[in-house]
Amino acid sequence: MGGDAPVSVQSMTTTKTADVEKTLQQIYVLAASGADIVRVTCNEPEAAEALAEIVPRSPVPIVADIHFQYRLALAAIEAGAHAIRVNPGNIRNPEHIRAVAKAAKRAGIPIRVGVNAGSLDKDLHARYGGVTPEALVESALSEVALLEEEGFSDIKISVKASSVPLMIASYRLLAERCDYPLHLGVTEAGPPPEGIIKSVAGIGSLLVDGIGDTIRFSLTADPVEEARAARSLLESLGLRERSAVDLVACPSCGRAEIDVIKLATLARDELKERGLPLQVAVMGCVVNGPGEAREADLGLAAGRSGAHLFIKGQVVRVLKLDKNLEDPYEAMVRELVSEAERLVKEGVEARLEAADLRAAEAARQEAETLRSEDLDPNRVADRALRIRAITRDS
Ligand code: SF4
Repeated sequence: MGGDAPVSVQSMTTTKTADVEKTLQQIYVLAASGADIVRVTCNEPEAAEALAEIVPRSPVPIVADIHFQYRLALAAIEAGAHAIRVNPGNIRNPEHIRAVAKAAKRAGIPIRVGVNAGSLDKDLHARYGGVTPEALVESALSEVALLEEEGFSDIKISVKASSVPLMIASYRLLAERCDYPLHLGVTEAGPPPEGIIKSVAGIGSLLVDGIGDTIRFSLTADPVEEARAARSLLESLGLRERSAVDLVACPSCGRAEIDVIKLATLARDELKERGLPLQVAVMGCVVNGPGEAREADLGLAAGRSGAHLFIKGQVVRVLKLDKNLEDPYEAMVRELVSEAERLVKEGVEARLEAADLRAAEAARQEAETLRSEDLDPNRVADRALRIRAITRDS
């Protein structure tokens, strides 16, 4: 983590850690959903004991989340946790922090200093007149100083807040003041979609500035949603390789020949299920669709009697669909999925070579016909005339 390593996704289990099997089950699901690291709470002795069983069976590194008792940090280290997270707001005694640093150093594991706006130290709160970026950063760096006094520097830091502007300002200040890897998050972001929007706004803003080494979306939802959303953000920013489909679709307009929402939703669900790492476009018309989505690996633009299938903007097949015989949406998606599978297996060059040579010309002609028939797809001119007639009458 840190340096040139890819930005990693974290999530947190919601099970009782003492329930080893349930916790491991959730860890496996989270790992399969895109989590690189999973945090589990270590809030009681039974949780620490369970960690000793969970860690060796986990497919991903496990971070033990420590609350008020530093002894549980020592126990989690003894149990083999890959890292621990401590909150300066709730382990206050410097001697306790030193003891944890010594144990972590012996075990060769990192510590995350996880400051949270909601549990900021009272003295700092009073001194700064509230929760400010300066107060959050000072809280983190004074804990870091204690760890460094013990010769410990395998440190990550977070300064989370539920306010997006506060969180962004705090991390920016922290990034100016130290070189340690940063774990980003908007804490208590709430349920989706608002929780996702806040997380994307806060975490995304920092990532585009090159700040952040690991991220967590703290959603009030199944943690699988956090892992998926966080992973998707990294893929959208080009910080991680695509692991699943990236479906792009036009917003639809008066020119659309089909119900774009229905087709895009069906296509997304089918492609997602197969985990194909492609960018796939679903466009509502053949007039603008292939051109507008020419960057996509594969796309489908709906025409009057079927659809144009295109690879990197080049039409490779025109699908003629008999609307009386089958559900045209399912038929179009079936063709799209089948081409996506072949594209992943055989590659772009091979699929372009296998293109129907007449398709591009047929597509061009259909688009041309539609263009000449309908130069004003939203009927703006026609409507304007009628509106003028109404307003003149009044
Ligand atoms: S692709 Fe066609 S239907 Fe979709 S928004 Fe563009 S013009 Fe409208």
